[in-house]
Amino acid sequence: MDCRTAATLLQPCFDGELDEGTAATVRAHVAGCADCSREMAALQALREGMKRALPRYAAPQSLRDRIHASAAEPAAAPAVPAPAKRRSLPRWVAMAASLLLVASLSVGVTRSLMGPNVGATSTELLLHDLVSSHLRALAATNSVDVPSSDRHTVRPWFAGRVEVSPPALDLSSQGFELLGGRVDYVGGRRVAVLVYKHGQHVVDLYVLPDDATGAATNAGEASAPLMRQGLNLIRRRVGGLQVWAVSDLDPQEMAALGEVLARAP
Ligand SMILES: [Zn+2]
Repeated sequence: MDCRTAATLLQPCFDGELDEGTAATVRAHVAGCADCSREMAALQALREGMKRALPRYAAPQSLRDRIHASAAEPAAAPAVPAPAKRRSLPRWVAMAASLLLVASLSVGVTRSLMGPNVGATSTELLLHDLVSSHLRALAATNSVDVPSSDRHTVRPWFAGRVEVSPPALDLSSQGFELLGGRVDYVGGRRVAVLVYKHGQHVVDLYVLPDDATGAATNAGEASAPLMRQGLNLIRRRVGGLQVWAVSDLDPQEMAALGEVLARAP
């Protein structure tokens, strides 16, 4: 058996759909072929990944009963003889196979969607993380892990807790009162969050390394903030770091904060 033939039979072989003789031939080829055994391993990995990643729902008893009842019904038309090589499959196997096909297609579609636009997509994911974190903190009883208005207390607290220490920003003369800091999980990493109060508004400053997601795009760098879910977000580079400000401050105030951050050392 050559690789071209094997390639068309790998999936049915993996799914146990081949007659024993053909399956044995495919397995023998795979055992001696690095390319095909890689393909086979990829199928295995996809199955494992789907088992882990996809939610499992138990079918309700009523659905089970209906399926059993319809399987027990006599076929309306005379059975079509099964093709020589493939045994005919129960209907649920065909359904499962088409689900698997849909799932693997969506993996492909997701990959191709992420391909050219990976910067834009991951920026949206980052914005989503920032907004969720801000809203979660507002809903929590304590939005800070280290409550202190003293930046010389807050800043050292982050040592060893996050990848990059936050800059020592003093925004008090601009009316931003430091409430403290916390560690949050944003863009797949643990980051420092400096929490400020401005009037009645809470402002979170997220400090990310400059290689973090979003750095590849200009998202948040414009003078007007981005708006997501009623919140304003603005990004500035401060001392070689990315600082994202998230707040329900109005856009003008956010833009002014952006100016202050841009001038920060
Ligand atoms: Zn091969």
